[in-house]
Amino acid sequence: MTSTTQRRQPLILVAEDDELVSKLIVQVLEESGYQVAEAGNGREAIELFQELMPDLVLLDVLMPELDGFGACKGIRALETSRHTPIIIMTALDDVESINDAFEAGATDFITKPVIWPLFAQRVRYALRGSQIAIELHDNQYRLEEAQRIANMGHYEIDLTTQKLACSNQLVEILGLQHEDMAPDLESLLTFVHPDDGHAIREAIDSLIQGGEPLNMDFKVNRLDGSVGFACTRAELVRDRNKQPVRLVGIWHDVTERKAAEQRIHYLSYYDELTELANRTLFNDRLQQTLFEAARYNHLVGVMIIDLDRFKKINDSLGNDVGDQLLKEVANRLQPTMRKCDTLARLGDDEFGIMLGKMSAPQDAAKVAQRVLDSLRTPFYFVDEELFMTPSIGIAISPLDSNNIETLLKNANAAVFQAKETGRNNFQFYTSNMNAMAKERLSMESRLRRALDNNEFLLCFQPQIIIETGDLCGVEALLRWEDGKNGLTPPDEFIPMLEDTGLIIAVGEWVLRTACEQILEWQRCGYELNISVNLSPRQFNDPNLIDSVLKVIQETGIDPERLELELTESTLIESEAKAIETLTALKSTGIKLAIDDFGTGYSSLAYLKKLPLDYLKVDRSFVLNMKNDEDDRTIVSSTIDLAHNLGLKVIAEGIEDVQSLTLLKEMRCEIAQGFYIGRPLHPSQFQAWLTGYQAVGTR
Ligand code: C2E
Ligand code: MG
Ligand code: MG
Repeated sequence: MTSTTQRRQPLILVAEDDELVSKLIVQVLEESGYQVAEAGNGREAIELFQELMPDLVLLDVLMPELDGFGACKGIRALETSRHTPIIIMTALDDVESINDAFEAGATDFITKPVIWPLFAQRVRYALRGSQIAIELHDNQYRLEEAQRIANMGHYEIDLTTQKLACSNQLVEILGLQHEDMAPDLESLLTFVHPDDGHAIREAIDSLIQGGEPLNMDFKVNRLDGSVGFACTRAELVRDRNKQPVRLVGIWHDVTERKAAEQRIHYLSYYDELTELANRTLFNDRLQQTLFEAARYNHLVGVMIIDLDRFKKINDSLGNDVGDQLLKEVANRLQPTMRKCDTLARLGDDEFGIMLGKMSAPQDAAKVAQRVLDSLRTPFYFVDEELFMTPSIGIAISPLDSNNIETLLKNANAAVFQAKETGRNNFQFYTSNMNAMAKERLSMESRLRRALDNNEFLLCFQPQIIIETGDLCGVEALLRWEDGKNGLTPPDEFIPMLEDTGLIIAVGEWVLRTACEQILEWQRCGYELNISVNLSPRQFNDPNLIDSVLKVIQETGIDPERLELELTESTLIESEAKAIETLTALKSTGIKLAIDDFGTGYSSLAYLKKLPLDYLKVDRSFVLNMKNDEDDRTIVSSTIDLAHNLGLKVIAEGIEDVQSLTLLKEMRCEIAQGFYIGRPLHPSQFQAWLTGYQAVGTR
């Protein structure tokens, strides 16, 4: 703030060596209400200026020691004199002196002899001018300060010249020096992040075309390479004819605010310690997933994991160890689930997993088992070895409820059950699911060992040429027999092999064993074809072709003798992929069949595109054929359809002679069924064949 605002009366410094004139000046000024300080020469004037900070300076030109011009220069060299008017008093006809006065930095001049009535007016006028300059400067200063504090700058674009003018604050915000900033709009827009560049250009264009005022938040490229945030507001300035002439706007750096907002968001939805979702986000996602699941008929699993005796560890070893342990638990839990599932920390020692899009409740049991496994190894802290076990409760929507509160309540009740059952285990809310889950888990672990334990075996079901009754081939059918549980039917364990991916290894074993058996029979003089079933997972395995080729090569079987059976549902997933894989399989020389035909949805148009050899009519139609007219029609039209497509037909499920006769009339080529022969162990095969041939063609 300047001295003017602190003094009631303006102070005028008069430097005049002529005492008489000086007196007169002082008198006039005092009468006009000013305070006056006097200096006898230029040097004194400079000293007094520094000491008193007058509001105006009057300097005579001719003075001893330092004249008026020198004094004027000296005063102007002082930072504090920027807005102080300096009036030089000079002789009437001395134009050169007047020039020198302005050169030296004078504001005005007064000619001598002084016309006293005008003198006071000149002084007043000069003082008023300086007052306005000071106010203007103060306002500007306040505005700049306000902008600096607000991290805000402003810019103007001249719409005729496209020139850009920026405030110091804006240049500072951008991290530049004024001289580094090219004065055009493009240079300003280089600071806008590419994500928002297009939008901001569009908004500016639209504003210039007379659209809405600009009001946008956007990302900013900062000079240090980081990304900041800014917002801008801009409007058009128009001339008297309402033509837009300028665009003026402010640019507000809101990086800190955004960071604070992001932090607030993070703290509201995430747990700071483990960086997992918190209960709010978990509930949000669960609600969302439940809505979707209801629409698409998916199952959703809610799993609550409570750490057993965590409180004890926390109390005895301290919060730091407790925190470390929770972090470590979170790290171990993360890989137990799929990316689309949500792991959250719901409370002190309570975690939650939401499993979306499950196909069976057992999926949750598998995840729970993985959670148990993940915590089985001890945790190490300095020299402590800690064991942490969980009690896990599972509720399934919609089986247990489709309401979020009830589901969570039920999952908690199941946690309680798990604790009651001795901790370190999982429990479903619905008790019969527990039995099923345990049964399946035990079956899964037994299946994992079955291949190594030689528990799989192949049975072979004969296929005959209907026309002649001759045996032509066999279908290889997988069996699983373990010492404890006896024989498990394929429909019960094959889906689990498929689920776990074990089918790839087991399928390869089936193919190899089947081929070896055929070669064995060949050595005994029987020329038989062999059909092997291929599951969807095997069909989609990228190594399928290689592994088929490998078996063919290594066993030396004639590929013409080998037939692969695929169901319609296997082929329906991706047409292009199915055609590609079938063509590749076909090129190895093997035969291809569609199994269980009639139970899927394949269209005639689709079938035509596939390089097939056989259709196998599903046994459900053949079984009822002799009593059910509809089934009979289905079988006979399937046979006609296949013949039209150039395919041969195998009918399975023939349990009596009537069915065989009907099929013969329908010109079906090949038959398979209990009437001809059940799936046989190789050791029973010779006996069957002898018996079959003895009875002759039926
Ligand atoms: P599938 O390929 O349709 O096999 C024919 C099934 O029909 C066999 O059941 C067979 O025992 C049964 N069958 C045959 N003739 C008759 C009959 O006259 N009456 C009745 N009621 N049933 C008859 P199985 O052996 O229980 O196999 C069931 C399914 O398991 C098979 O159906 C096949 O989809 C699958 N499967 C069997 N072995 C394998 C294998 O090695 N790999 C794969 N991926 N799947 C296999
Ligand atoms: Mg089959
Ligand atoms: Mg079948």
